[in-house]
Amino acid sequence: MRNFRRRDSGDQIRVKPGYARNFLFPRNLAIIATKENITHFEHKKIKLEAKLKHEMSLSLDMTDEVDLASQSEEEFRQYSLSRHQAYALPINGRCYNCEESTSGNFCCVECREDWEKRKYFERQKKLD
Ligand SMILES: [Zn+2]
Repeated sequence: MRNFRRRDSGDQIRVKPGYARNFLFPRNLAIIATKENITHFEHKKIKLEAKLKHEMSLSLDMTDEVDLASQSEEEFRQYSLSRHQAYALPINGRCYNCEESTSGNFCCVECREDWEKRKYFERQKKLD
């Protein structure tokens, strides 16, 4: 038995010399774990690990941003959905309060509040 090093990862493996000579060496999969080779791989491994760590941190940062973006988007969607369902008004392209053309039910917050107040008082009147 002798120690060998995998060429790709630098991991030290123990195999029979015959296996190394007939299989690993011809395929360039491993080299003998000499002192020089070990040092070479240690350096390579450290570099590789640092590179991986760096790439991982980069992709992690990106994941965080994507998560935050989709989270606030989802919150906004839920929010506008609940507002929408509260009124269940058909969108007719005009503000319900002042008939200004708009993509929603109202052209502005003030119109929404005006209309809400009016509806509220109308309902109060009906109750009386
Ligand atoms: Zn309006």
